[in-house]
Amino acid sequence: MSKKRIAILGSTGSVGTQALQVISNNRGIAEVELLTAQTNADLLIKQALEFLPNAVVIGDENLYKGVNEVLTPHHIKVFAGEAALSQVMEMETIDIVLTAVVGFSGLRPTLKAIEAGKQIALSNKETLVVAGELITSSAKERGVNIYPVDSEHSAIFQCLAGEFHNRIEKIYLTASGGPFRNKNIDYLSKVTKKEALRHPNWSMGNKVTIDSATLMNKGLEVIEAKWLFGLRQEQIDVIVHPQSIIHSIVQFEDGSMKAQMGLPDMKLPIQYALFYPNRIKSEFPRFNFSDYTELTFETADISVFRNLGLAYEAMRKGGNMPCILNASNEIVVDAFLKDRISFIRMPDIIEKCMELCSYIKHPAIDDYYETDLEARRITNTLI
Ligand code: MG
Repeated sequence: MSKKRIAILGSTGSVGTQALQVISNNRGIAEVELLTAQTNADLLIKQALEFLPNAVVIGDENLYKGVNEVLTPHHIKVFAGEAALSQVMEMETIDIVLTAVVGFSGLRPTLKAIEAGKQIALSNKETLVVAGELITSSAKERGVNIYPVDSEHSAIFQCLAGEFHNRIEKIYLTASGGPFRNKNIDYLSKVTKKEALRHPNWSMGNKVTIDSATLMNKGLEVIEAKWLFGLRQEQIDVIVHPQSIIHSIVQFEDGSMKAQMGLPDMKLPIQYALFYPNRIKSEFPRFNFSDYTELTFETADISVFRNLGLAYEAMRKGGNMPCILNASNEIVVDAFLKDRISFIRMPDIIEKCMELCSYIKHPAIDDYYETDLEARRITNTLI
């Protein structure tokens, strides 16, 4: 296998740092071409000195000088700012781009990477939620493959290996249920940020951890699955599976179901996406049946976890509605993390924003950027 030359968008975040661990275990078949970070200059410098990429981008231009001073003597090119982030996607030496940034900000560089013909390992689910149609059609046009990194979508993708000619009847995305599984609205009205950040199974960044607690994460993943696998809304179901061992399930037209299992560890789907179609030998911990005597399943309660219902509604309305949902969610999660609003106000505000924001049935690329700004503005006034 020739060495994969990898760019990591968002190398200092949870998925980015785990991807570097995967690469570190596989130095013979992978090398880092590009690392990018928004504000964590110290970690970006440390990573660059360890992996010696061709270039790095620091998003915050105020931090350019400090990064440049340390890395230039090591022949690492240093760029800063959002425009640079899009430009470096054209670097000829990049084979695959891992999009590990969080939120809407991943859209522009991901589109640029696709336009430059780079393969994509997609961790930034918001990109597909917001502009799934645009992203998937642009990828198709250029023969770009999008390999899912999200564990549920990686599971579906793994179940489809050897089955691409067989039609999917339905998929089941599994959800852990988060820290507040089986709780009622009363309970949720009093929960704190600290409790919401305590995820039972997965270790992830703050934004996705809060999204997991509200089930918005699952809602975004439903929309992500629609675009990744070309499914209709009624073909995508969510099932709560508290042990997070079955990562998702595909049901085919003969009624047979395939599930992908493993310990909850993001390094597995990251590695599968980076080295597909090969499975690389790893030393990750192995599943032990005596630790899991039961695997259980429950339905998700949309009357309590309203975000999941809102995501289905946004998907059904289509157009720029998922973009509105996503932008509003990014703002309310940030407000919750700053103790400005309570846990249960988040869906109320998102729902109101979906009512108030201008709806566009067939958005063009610029409409998404405008919708994103409008929805953020509306959400902030509602807060
Ligand atoms: Mg996931």
